[in-house]
Amino acid sequence: MKVAIMGAGMSGLSCAITLEKHGVEPVIFEKRRCVGDRFVNGEATFSMFNRPIGDELKYLKEKHGIHLIPTDVVNKLVVHSKNETSSIDGSLGYLNIRGRHEKSYECQLERQVKTKINFNSDYEYQQLIKDFDYVVLATGDAEYALRLGNFRCDLTCTIKGATVTGEFLTNFPHVWFNYEIIPKGYAWLLPFSETEANLVLAYPDYPDNIKLDLDKMWESFYGLACRQLDQNLKVTDRFEITRYMMGICKNPKINNTYFVGNCFGAMSPGLGFGQFTSVLTGVYAAYDLLNMGSYCELTKPLFENFNHSLALRRFLENLNDSNWDLIVKSLDNKVLDGIVDKVISNKSRIQFLKALLPFMKLWNVFKGSRVK
Ligand SMILES: Cc1cc2nc3c(=O)[nH]c(=O)nc-3n(C[C@H](O)[C@H](O)[C@H](O)COP(=O)(O)OP(=O)(O)OC[C@H]3O[C@@H](n4cnc5c(N)ncnc54)[C@H](O)[C@@H]3O)c2cc1C
Repeated sequence: MKVAIMGAGMSGLSCAITLEKHGVEPVIFEKRRCVGDRFVNGEATFSMFNRPIGDELKYLKEKHGIHLIPTDVVNKLVVHSKNETSSIDGSLGYLNIRGRHEKSYECQLERQVKTKINFNSDYEYQQLIKDFDYVVLATGDAEYALRLGNFRCDLTCTIKGATVTGEFLTNFPHVWFNYEIIPKGYAWLLPFSETEANLVLAYPDYPDNIKLDLDKMWESFYGLACRQLDQNLKVTDRFEITRYMMGICKNPKINNTYFVGNCFGAMSPGLGFGQFTSVLTGVYAAYDLLNMGSYCELTKPLFENFNHSLALRRFLENLNDSNWDLIVKSLDNKVLDGIVDKVISNKSRIQFLKALLPFMKLWNVFKGSRVK
């Protein structure tokens, strides 16, 4: 069986590791000159979005033999609204590095792969599908799925971020929901060492938002982050992504082509998490190729998760700054705080988004959202 994997990132490498473990050696094509050849950034995974699975890294290791070492666990998530700041405590997930850093998740996966990776590849899909029995599309964006008429784009978003230096606690990320500065969007501070963190904002490209001045928005947010962290954060690297497509493929597999990672639609529209789903889709595609499971069946819960996350996105957009202040202030209430900490902890099996779905849908209908 000749299998080509297009893209040596989270999903492509997870697919390769699984195939190799069961005796199939794929041919891996990577466009860049090495794995993770892009900006270094901090990312995170939060267990509450991956239920009923509890601890996502333990699950990947024990169930699928994929080993990933994070930079730290998330022990506290500091939440900022326009006028309030509060926190959620407990084992909530993990922080990790991405990109061209030896400890990045993709570099860790590369070390688990035995097959030689063909770097600087300029092969097109059309060529590979002629030369191979199967092609796994793992290129990290929706472009091929879109070209093949296999992608439903639900929204596009703008992302602007920077690596900043300062003093950080490696287990305390921060999140901001401040619509006065980032309308309908959010921002994160994700530390990946005691002195480096990723500061990033993201918002949906709705007509009112497209008119906004991204640089001005960034300056306002950066100033706010410096004030609230009481630090003069120094920017050492920057990145900007505009019109990033968020959506999901219509079919996870068409004939002999598999769509994995962001080609599948791994990035959740709610808050932009996609690493865990990327690894899972890579592993599941390998299981299908090995006759160990059906890709279409295995990915069904991922489609469900995506749709829950889309409802979350609409729900978040239908809140305003006063709603956010109220939510964040409630986290200070001892009883509520205790419940939230328990529900969100990675020990809980409660399917957070599924349980909230009826309420979010009601709220979205009430607010006249386009997606019910
Ligand atoms: C700024 C930003 C922040 C994020 N933060 C988080 C976060 O905090 N938590 C989280 O869970 N998720 C986060 N995500 C999403 C997550 O990073 C992605 O969902 C995940 O990396 C997708 O994995 P992948 O395998 O599809 O793509 P990647 O891991 O990006 O790999 C794609 C690979 O394919 C290669 N490639 C591209 N085109 C070709 C081609 N034609 N031929 C051969 N190779 C090709 C690329 O060079 C790359 O190596 C974030 C995404 C962005 C953009």
